[in-house]
Amino acid sequence: MRLHHRFYVLALFATAVSLSAALTSCATIGGANYVSLEEEWQLGRELEADLNQRLNLVNDASLQRYVEQVGQQIVRQTNMANLPWRFHVVADDQINAFNIPGGVVYVNTGLIAEAGSASEFVGVLAHEVAHGVARHGTQRMSQAYEANLLAGLLLGGNPGLVEQLATQVVATGAFAKFSRADEREADRLGVAFMARAGWNPEGLAQMLERLLAEQRGGGSSVGQFFSSHPTTQERVQNVRAQARQVGGRGLRTNDGSFASMRSRAQRY
Ligand SMILES: [Zn+2]
Repeated sequence: MRLHHRFYVLALFATAVSLSAALTSCATIGGANYVSLEEEWQLGRELEADLNQRLNLVNDASLQRYVEQVGQQIVRQTNMANLPWRFHVVADDQINAFNIPGGVVYVNTGLIAEAGSASEFVGVLAHEVAHGVARHGTQRMSQAYEANLLAGLLLGGNPGLVEQLATQVVATGAFAKFSRADEREADRLGVAFMARAGWNPEGLAQMLERLLAEQRGGGSSVGQFFSSHPTTQERVQNVRAQARQVGGRGLRTNDGSFASMRSRAQRY
């Protein structure tokens, strides 16, 4: 089974040679990345299997399908569109979403429940996909471990490493604590992905503003999101300026499903 899985991953990457060549430059924007794309996606599958046992995933096929569908819409706008991304909904009223290496995004019901419109929710989803496309998670890993130690950990799919990472993700609600530069890049890419997918990127600015207001009001439900994604008024202003440049004409702020999806999310 394990061998089969590895061959599948290898076959996948054999068909994506040009893609990985295109990503080489992108992977070095925020520092060296010692994890190959192939290793990253293999790690992602292992970590996802472990996390899905530990997290309380919703038992709501409609909600899961909606998040998956919107997520894949965003993925199609990226240079990692040929890779198999996965989206999961966690029953947790904390306002949070996070990306783990290898194209996996987790969204809490709390985030959907609090979003004022579909585009606010899609904004955070696009931001998380952008962290994945920019490979910020494995960049942070590369900072945390020496290159040769990291290679040793990843080769042979070290189960101890996966367990350690999964424990950390569950405890903190994120794979890594991103830098301000990571956030800026994820916002900029997120705005572009949203616009290309036909969503008004002003939604991301609105959601960030909502989260900041909640934090200023002493709301405890945004703690996890802020600890891993440093958010400031400056970030809101930058995103808003980028959204204005794009212009909202012809772009969606809402869709016909969001209101009922939000009601479903509010049950958790
Ligand atoms: Zn972020």
